[in-house]
Amino acid sequence: MKPAPFAYHTPSTIDEATGMLAELGDDATLLAGGQSLIPLMNLGLARPNNVIDLRRIAPLNGFDTTGDGLVIRAMATQRQVETSETVKAEAPLVADALTMVGFRPTRTRGTVVGSLTHADPAAELPMVALALDAKLRLVSRDRERTVSADDFFISYFTTQRQPSELVVDVLFPNRFKGWGFAEFRRRTGDFAIVAAAVAVETSGEYRIALGGIADRPLRCTSAEEVLRDQDVDQTLAQAAAEAAAEAVDPLGDIHASPDFKRRLLIPIVRTAVLDAARRGRDNG
Ligand SMILES: Cc1cc2nc3c(=O)[nH]c(=O)nc-3n(C[C@H](O)[C@H](O)[C@H](O)COP(=O)(O)OP(=O)(O)OC[C@H]3O[C@@H](n4cnc5c(N)ncnc54)[C@H](O)[C@@H]3O)c2cc1C
Repeated sequence: MKPAPFAYHTPSTIDEATGMLAELGDDATLLAGGQSLIPLMNLGLARPNNVIDLRRIAPLNGFDTTGDGLVIRAMATQRQVETSETVKAEAPLVADALTMVGFRPTRTRGTVVGSLTHADPAAELPMVALALDAKLRLVSRDRERTVSADDFFISYFTTQRQPSELVVDVLFPNRFKGWGFAEFRRRTGDFAIVAAAVAVETSGEYRIALGGIADRPLRCTSAEEVLRDQDVDQTLAQAAAEAAAEAVDPLGDIHASPDFKRRLLIPIVRTAVLDAARRGRDNG
């Protein structure tokens, strides 16, 4: 299949890219790793008149650690992030979840920020961003703002990002001592049918994010409450998992009915919570 005709732009600075977005607005789409956009264009499901390729903008490459955590810039690929020893030390939940995103060839091109911005409700990274209280930095020609993952995801493939904005980077804060990630999928490389990302703050509080359940990644505060100020064991992890299953109203799809998803959620949340609690204890 071939995409519909489009004009191809290759800005070399962030200012140039945001200038183009300001001019073209809804009529333009940004291209990062192309692993979601290009298939959609080839299928005719996306028909942008203008494609703005970010690959020549050098300041969008790579990632850094700061006092606050790990900053991943827009064109850092999933594979660069997944294989980095720095990331494994600073944000191990990100590195671990990435091993379950697609396939090695898709991760070699696909970006972390592209996955967040694409906002597939079953994608691994949006859940991880929610569990780790990530902050996305959005820049347009006239302003810059930071949006937390809690506010960023709105619905299927829909985020707070305005057409004039470029997501320049995402900060994964480093205030967590424990983490766990679990998902159920039919085959390696598939999107999760149901997944959970769990992070334990240094204060001991839990953040639990679920994927595959709703039109966006979901925080599950009722399950978090069960674990608050507790020394988490099998029984408590099971209680939190059951609280999660009770709290949600899963959307069925071609792979799983709402009831099946609800039942799957229990072992998935329990596993992720137990892993997070164990690592939290190991890290004091
Ligand atoms: C075979 C296959 C299997 C896959 N399996 C999985 C999976 O299991 N789990 C999973 O999570 N994903 C999966 N994916 C999707 C993959 O992770 C994509 O790489 C990711 O969703 C998008 O990242 P990208 O860099 O390729 O973005 P692109 O495809 O280039 O862009 C995606 C969207 O984000 C926008 N965008 C990108 N960067 C920015 C930015 N900096 N600012 C504003 N908007 C931006 C684009 O305009 C576009 O709308 C799979 C893809 C393939 C092809």
